[in-house]
Amino acid sequence: MRTRSMDEAEAKSLTPKLSPSEWRAEASITIKGYEDSSGSGSGSSSGPPDPFQAFTDAPFDERLLRGLTSAGYESPTAIQAQCWPIGLANKDMICIAKTGSGKTCGFFLPIFDNFIKGGGKVGQSMPVQRFGSYQGGRGGRGGRGGRGGGGYSANGAKGPKVLVLAPTRELACQIMEEGRKFGKFVGLRCVCCYGGAPKYQQIQALQSGYEVVIATPGRLNDLIEMKKADLSEVEWVVFDEADRMLDMGFEPQIRTVMANVTKEHQTMLFSATWPKEIRRLANDFLKDPIQINVGEVNSLNANKDIKQHILVMPESEKSDKLAQILQGIIAEGGKTTHGKAIIFVAKKISCDHLANELWNQGFAVDSLHGDRSQYERTQAINAFKRGQLRLLIATDVAARGLDVKDVEVVINYDMPGGVNGVEDYVHRIGRTGRAGAKGTAYTFFTRGDSKNANQLVEVLQKADQEVPAELAAMMRKPRGGGGRGGWGGRGGRGGGRGGGRGGGSYWGGGRGGRGGRDGGGRGGRW
Ligand code: AMP
Repeated sequence: MRTRSMDEAEAKSLTPKLSPSEWRAEASITIKGYEDSSGSGSGSSSGPPDPFQAFTDAPFDERLLRGLTSAGYESPTAIQAQCWPIGLANKDMICIAKTGSGKTCGFFLPIFDNFIKGGGKVGQSMPVQRFGSYQGGRGGRGGRGGRGGGGYSANGAKGPKVLVLAPTRELACQIMEEGRKFGKFVGLRCVCCYGGAPKYQQIQALQSGYEVVIATPGRLNDLIEMKKADLSEVEWVVFDEADRMLDMGFEPQIRTVMANVTKEHQTMLFSATWPKEIRRLANDFLKDPIQINVGEVNSLNANKDIKQHILVMPESEKSDKLAQILQGIIAEGGKTTHGKAIIFVAKKISCDHLANELWNQGFAVDSLHGDRSQYERTQAINAFKRGQLRLLIATDVAARGLDVKDVEVVINYDMPGGVNGVEDYVHRIGRTGRAGAKGTAYTFFTRGDSKNANQLVEVLQKADQEVPAELAAMMRKPRGGGGRGGWGGRGGRGGGRGGGRGGGSYWGGGRGGRGGRDGGGRGGRW
């Protein structure tokens, strides 16, 4: 039977297509790593493969194509269009793209297609991996219990064939959902291994031969050390949000994991940014990769559909300003039906303080940070996705990858700090204005944030947003521009509040309960 979206996809393929180079220009895609990096558009051996502009261009197994239409997707996203032919050709691939671009399906579909067509083996054109530069001792092979049978592995594989590494539990779970959406059509099973949750079920799934493992590096390391994860059959490796994994300090765990991937494999690396640490990782683990850049690399661009308000104020005024904004949101949309908002704070402790304070003021809020138990985090995210919870206070653990489509407002209670502060800012506000919707972002900017003023102004200007005079006044003058002195230290953070709420969260359960080693639960500031 034909579905509506199938008809649309077919109709699309009938309209005249752009040439590959026109298409790439329109999609802001550049490719490196082929002899002819500009792309002749011929799809010949000297140029990159032509993008699959419509689903009908993709030579996927018919069951996977059915999966795409049943997911309600109408055409490939830019990243999918270009990743799919490269993935199908068994090439190692680096993809620099923002989150929310459809990358998960971008890597899963060619892997699944090659998996089922090659009987779980990567193709013969597979590049040989170098192992010489891997650090860390090779863990012993897992002492495995018997396979509980079932699954795809007609070739008697012992361990997973596909390994996806992701920085946080939330992202890992989202990847698993997307993997299951398509895996079920071709009999491939996905398990998610992340810290802060019991190991038993994860071990059981690993031992019963699940073909696809999505894991956070810390938990996977634990399972390797326990000899419960055998990676010796892995043929496909994906690093998702590689920059975030390195930011979170997972490089040693990633290297230990990779020391346990002993077969030749195809590797795909996805990252929103392309700093030297990621280049080094790519250099160590990918062989002759093709690099796809979506948009301008090393340049920060905020979505123009987001109205950005920068509110310059002292630390002491933040709390009243927040209440005022929230009241406005509620007044506009109604107490239980107002637009969804995420409030980002810098530290786990401020997350709870603020949640207590807002709760005491009568706002229905919940918080998401690395010290909450996995159960509480899942409850909060699910409630927020479903819309029962409409105000979420979060640390950066929720800033990337969290895919909630209808967030209307993002409030940066604390401007993100550190060298990547403005980059984190762009990611945070990117939780709103998704899929063509309009969004609003408010950012409380103090004198202590002034070191990020220049870069922030640049982002605002590029997105045609207003630059408040107070912010412009905080910009550092170019060298030799004469005489600004004294940027001042950060004002003290607004401690000393809170109290009161005694742990009763929006969901009635207590807060607390440390997460495990993964994701934000590693005892970092998130
Ligand atoms: P990702 O970047 O993989 O996190 O995907 C972002 C969102 O886009 C997810 O909700 C996906 O389910 C959705 N998505 C992925 N591919 C497509 C597509 N071709 N058309 C429409 N939505 C998609």
